[in-house]
Amino acid sequence: MKRRDFLKEAAVVAAGAAVTACGIKGFKSSEAAKAEADSLARADSIAAAEARKPRAYQALPGNRLSLSWEPYELQLRHTFAVSGSSRNSTPGVQVRISYDGFVGYGEASMPPYLGHSVKSVCAFLSKLRLGRFGDPFMLEDIMDYVNSCAVRSEDGNLSDGPARAAVDMALHDLFGKLLGQPLWRIYGLDPAKAPNTSYTIGMDTPEVMAEKTREVAGRFKVLKVKVGQPNDMQMIDAVRSASDLPIVVDANQGWTDRMKALYEIYELKDRGVQMVEQPMPASMPDDIAWLRERSPLPIFADEALQGMADLRRVKGVYDGVNIKLMKCGGLLEARRMQSYARAEGMKVMLGCMTETSCAVSAAAQISPGVDFADLDGNLLISNDPFTGVGVSGGKIILRNLPGLGLNIRK
Ligand code: MG
Repeated sequence: MKRRDFLKEAAVVAAGAAVTACGIKGFKSSEAAKAEADSLARADSIAAAEARKPRAYQALPGNRLSLSWEPYELQLRHTFAVSGSSRNSTPGVQVRISYDGFVGYGEASMPPYLGHSVKSVCAFLSKLRLGRFGDPFMLEDIMDYVNSCAVRSEDGNLSDGPARAAVDMALHDLFGKLLGQPLWRIYGLDPAKAPNTSYTIGMDTPEVMAEKTREVAGRFKVLKVKVGQPNDMQMIDAVRSASDLPIVVDANQGWTDRMKALYEIYELKDRGVQMVEQPMPASMPDDIAWLRERSPLPIFADEALQGMADLRRVKGVYDGVNIKLMKCGGLLEARRMQSYARAEGMKVMLGCMTETSCAVSAAAQISPGVDFADLDGNLLISNDPFTGVGVSGGKIILRNLPGLGLNIRK
């Protein structure tokens, strides 16, 4: 019998006894009726309090975190070309953290330009001794330890972003699973405020780009085009010939002449472009600040921003920042950077690498409220081992599943 029913029945029995004691069959004395009402009210308030009680999870004595990992190769649906390189696959490392029968998943994705490799990620993970931790809820302490195993460079950023991000993600997934709640709910975010994600139309011939654009018609509300090539306007015109959706562009540091960059930005604005990511090399902050002062479109930092240490440097040079888990080392750091950028009046964009639904779903957990989201990395691969965050009509759909909201694809 449920506690509430038991208390109700006990109250009725008590009231009946009071009636018999009074010797008035069929009627209750006012005292007995009051006692019954009081008893029922007490039962209801106890039941209501119990229903409100959060499900508590205690770290279990003797249990320890256990870390494992496995490299894999992600196959791309289309050859992915950006200013300076192109590729058909991307290496990754899947990370798992186990505790009390639960498993949290994380992922390290390593685009070549960041200088990481499967070898460097595995070497970093091999250094970690997560078995020293018995309480998976001590996220800050655990990540402080993980970060202490990285090397801080002269510019203030920590090494091994993808490996640290993978561990951070797996911890957050585990954390949510132990609490039985999606991360976005734990953070108190409204999934209805999740943004549209842009979808990248990779560099190609104008005909192929127009075809790629037609392929995704109706599925997205913002398109992204990688520029920084001699034929930028041709590419934009090709996409424009197949769609009138807003476009954002990423030059990936491809423009080196600020006057030419400014001219291009005006041309892009005339073609319905809304913002420009990393127009010039990160090593040219003075030129970028000059460009920003004159640009009719907002300028966002990507390659110029790895971790928190860079936020101070990009302030005043860019209008906004592109935060990526693989650069900054995970959700804990990404949330700190988001708060700092907001406090400094900068716009915030969430980006990703070419990665599975694991890392994309992790970033999506903190997406409600950002200005731009570029979380399409999982849509660009053909062998995603997970299902996770969805996209409907271009909007990010956060799932009501614990942790990062992942299922392993059968
Ligand atoms: Mg970029």
